[in-house]
Amino acid sequence: MKIDGYLLVVVFLCLATHGCTHLQKNEDIVFQASTISALLEGVYDGNVTYKDLKKRGDFGIGTFNSLDGEMIGLEGKFYQIKDDGMAYSVPDTMKTPFAVVTFFKPNEALFLDNTMDCNQLEKHLDTILPTKNIIYAFKIEGDFKYIKTRSVPKQSKPYPPLIEVVKDQPTFEFSNVKGTIAGFWFPDYMEGINVPGYHFHLITKDKKAGGHLLECELQNVRIEIDYISELFMALPENSEFYNADLTKKKTGELEKVEK
Ligand code: ZN
Repeated sequence: MKIDGYLLVVVFLCLATHGCTHLQKNEDIVFQASTISALLEGVYDGNVTYKDLKKRGDFGIGTFNSLDGEMIGLEGKFYQIKDDGMAYSVPDTMKTPFAVVTFFKPNEALFLDNTMDCNQLEKHLDTILPTKNIIYAFKIEGDFKYIKTRSVPKQSKPYPPLIEVVKDQPTFEFSNVKGTIAGFWFPDYMEGINVPGYHFHLITKDKKAGGHLLECELQNVRIEIDYISELFMALPENSEFYNADLTKKKTGELEKVEK
């Protein structure tokens, strides 16, 4: 009887442990719709709905079909920052041509109580990341002395390439604002698939405004970092994606589009 009971406990523990690690493993993964190179080429329509996207992550950044603004997702809520700089909640039926999401579970957290700009922040983060060969998600929450963001206006067909769209992108400035930055760091070797280095979007604490981050000055922030070693991609199933020429390297163009 004693042995049977012991065996039962062992089997139960194994099942429980396996179940837990399996779940964690599946959630600690980046899901991305399409590629940054396709977005650069003007593939602004995809077939992933926000309803589907929410099943793949509760946190992330991206855009919308017809390139209708910047997306930021936090704690399962997704926002659309349109070309008026204002944030709107995203209906489940909307679709995305490019988005990057994960279930955010930080491996590390730190506080920064000194003032630094975005470039200094990136250099500081560079010293913290344990390797340049995996993906990281960042959540940066707190007080910002200054923020400059941009959004992109909704496009109509035939779609121009992204480099043309951002030539007259609307930009927005905020002073002494509380908010949250969500973003990712991708390795250089993933150029073409995603944006190498840091890519951040912001939403203000009142969830009314935000955008793609261009400049910042932080004052008092908490930074959380999620280390991620798995990537799942869903490529668009449409003729625009099938026919896009994704063979060219576009390092310079990407710099202009994202910075
Ligand atoms: Zn962006």
